Amino acid sequence: MLGSVPLTAKAIEDYRPIIGDEAVEEILSLASGLKGAKVLHINATAFGGGVAELLSAMVPLMCDLGLDASWQVITGNDPFFNVTKAMHNSLQGMITQWTPEMWNIWSEVNRENASRFDEDYDFVVVHDPQPAGLRQMVEDSRGRVAGKWLWRCHIDLTEAQVEVWEFVRSYVQNYDVAIFTMREYVKEGLHGPKVHIVAPAIDPLSLKNVDIPLATVHEVLARYGVDPARPMITQVSRFDPWKDPLGVIDAYRIAKKHFPTLQLVMVGSMANDDPEGWAYYERTLRRAGEDFDIFILSNLNGVGNVEVNAFQSAAQVVIQKSLREGFGLTVTEGLWKGRPVVAGAVGGILLQVQDGVNGYLVQSVQECADRLVHLLEQPALAQSMGEAGREHVRKNFLITRNLRDYLRIFNQLSGYQPSQ
Ligand code: UDP
Repeated sequence: MLGSVPLTAKAIEDYRPIIGDEAVEEILSLASGLKGAKVLHINATAFGGGVAELLSAMVPLMCDLGLDASWQVITGNDPFFNVTKAMHNSLQGMITQWTPEMWNIWSEVNRENASRFDEDYDFVVVHDPQPAGLRQMVEDSRGRVAGKWLWRCHIDLTEAQVEVWEFVRSYVQNYDVAIFTMREYVKEGLHGPKVHIVAPAIDPLSLKNVDIPLATVHEVLARYGVDPARPMITQVSRFDPWKDPLGVIDAYRIAKKHFPTLQLVMVGSMANDDPEGWAYYERTLRRAGEDFDIFILSNLNGVGNVEVNAFQSAAQVVIQKSLREGFGLTVTEGLWKGRPVVAGAVGGILLQVQDGVNGYLVQSVQECADRLVHLLEQPALAQSMGEAGREHVRKNFLITRNLRDYLRIFNQLSGYQPSQ
């Protein structure tokens, strides 16, 4: 068995006041023919990043609906996570020098994990490229695979380095289903699996997204020395070049000329599968220098879900200045808090930020700064944009919609037609 991730129970009925009766009934109906189905989600890390965030809500909800769902993580070493980080970057368009040794490291760790895969499931959902080799390697080691295998790709593949995608594709083509966030991410030449387009989503009842009292927000701000009486903007993201933390600081500096009391909170937890993160964290600290109105925080300062919630809720504007973004759960989180979001005009952000309606899409540091100033100058506009954003998320990007999409796919794969 791979490493099993412990989960906190969740109940679908708790979502009824948020999404309404019709949506809940549809989910119950879709789940009715799947009771007892064994579902396994596999990814590379139980902590940090969007996939872990999604699974911590999705898997307990599947269990609540009567599916026998679980979540396991593969085990890797530093060389493996260096390779998968390079793989992630190459698939997002960064040209990387690949050596036979790198392919071997990836294959070896996938093979080793496959050798510990010792149960049969009805549906195995493998997330992202790190464990994508499992299906093939389980088949190689056991001589067969049981159940349906789904590959869930959370990455923007539009500019993928060809040789890296071809390598991943050779493992993915034997899956039954491949799920992408946007139609544009689907590469030509993926002929085996049936392709589905499904956007990710957030859990409105998680500690990170549930409505919290103002007193809690203020308590968190006070704990980190952030002044609630002064304007504050925030970006919550791993320290990663694609998230452009340096560009965020540059944009803040321009905006600060107009708003000298402006504060910037940057939160970025370190994920286990992200060795590059430390180096970029240090670069971000250097760019911030001795500006005491810039707060660079992480899980090492005790910033967890409640704190992220508080910073997003307290911000006048949420920033997500990504240069590439598969989806951007942080954007969803910001919109759900009723904040306008100023974000890079890339990838899955385009599904979420409606330019001029619930935030602004930007292409440069200067544009980011201009939009920040525009919103800081007009709190009423910021407020109404934030309200539009919350409704956009309610309709399209809550975990219950994502759950419904999985149930539909499972039903299709098992040939079951629910009765409505
Ligand atoms: N996150 C967090 N603390 C951090 C940085 C990120 O809790 O310091 C969470 C963030 O709130 C979001 C997820 O990690 O839920 C990041 O997902 P996203 O899709 O934005 O980016 P990814 O890291 O998957 O590229």
